Amino acid sequence: MQITGVTQHHVSQPLEDSFGPNWIPGYPQGSHEAEVFEIETDAGITGVTASPSFAGGLDYATPLSLFLQGEDPHDVEGIMRKLETVDLIGPRPWHLELALWDIVGKDAGKPVYELLGGSDDPIRAYASTGEVQPADERIEYVQERVDEGFEAVKLRIAERSDLDVVRAVREAFPDLTLMVDANKGWAVRVMEEETQWSVAEAEAVARELADIGGIEWFEEPLPRHDYAGYARLRDAAEVPIAGGEFNGGPQELYEFLGRDAVDVLQPDAALVTGIKRAVEVAGAARNQGVRFVPHTWTNAIGFAANLHVMAAVGADWCEFPHDPPWTPEAWSAPIHGEFAADGTVTPPQGPGLGVELNRDLLEGDR
Ligand SMILES: [Mg+2]
Repeated sequence: MQITGVTQHHVSQPLEDSFGPNWIPGYPQGSHEAEVFEIETDAGITGVTASPSFAGGLDYATPLSLFLQGEDPHDVEGIMRKLETVDLIGPRPWHLELALWDIVGKDAGKPVYELLGGSDDPIRAYASTGEVQPADERIEYVQERVDEGFEAVKLRIAERSDLDVVRAVREAFPDLTLMVDANKGWAVRVMEEETQWSVAEAEAVARELADIGGIEWFEEPLPRHDYAGYARLRDAAEVPIAGGEFNGGPQELYEFLGRDAVDVLQPDAALVTGIKRAVEVAGAARNQGVRFVPHTWTNAIGFAANLHVMAAVGADWCEFPHDPPWTPEAWSAPIHGEFAADGTVTPPQGPGLGVELNRDLLEGDR
């Protein structure tokens, strides 16, 4: 089998309301955008993948064709050796590898997790928010998720004072598992810069979280390349420290592991590793007792890929993005149907990634 071409589509779906993601400070997000790629083969099998997009996105299908045309998509390792250099001339390569697995799975008639030796046992899902909101609104939101069956929710904080929201949610839901994400690892600084904390300031926040209790992890309290800072914080903090969702590739994840810098490693297959490297990193993490819980907040195709990884490696939580107007329906826009969770989630059962593109939404070739 040979790859014959690459097609890129820009997908943009308006959100019902403006959304204020904690990782793009000050930016009123009005749509869900993705760059969707189809990798075509001479066998008539097409693999799909997607990357997050912003303000109309960047075109790169033409240079990608140079890297991919004529390759056998089953040679995931060989192709990744080439694609690992794509970032020298443009985009990150990791999301493209997902389409190779989609082809391999479709060719074998099996879902990707099965090819990787995983199981379709339900994975615990936590409802993941994206905005910092006032306490009363958050309590209402959490009640809705609890009613749906969720036993864990991730809250966002941008400033130390946002801990008041975490405290209020804890008081209203004494037994709920809470994750807390400060989004200090990276931010898109198109409007404002994110507030950053020194290690001492992050330690002070971690102490408050320990007092609040029932904190599953404290996520991205420091910049994503401050491995030494993460290691110091992890030493000092009583709450588990998490990071790695949007680092610059697998090598940086091994840096976290080598420096004993996190309790929970969270690389997103669509952003940092691809599927094969994610499974490798998960094994290395397990060897030293570090939990592996991928970030999933991109779009339904990225979510599916991460779900196959989780099913393959036995991750103990799945991030389920849900913070209206950023609903599962909104982030599932690139595919037919939508992902759902009620406290657990299972990987798609169809061949490959198990998702089908919503062609009504594709804006045409780029
Ligand atoms: Mg995060």
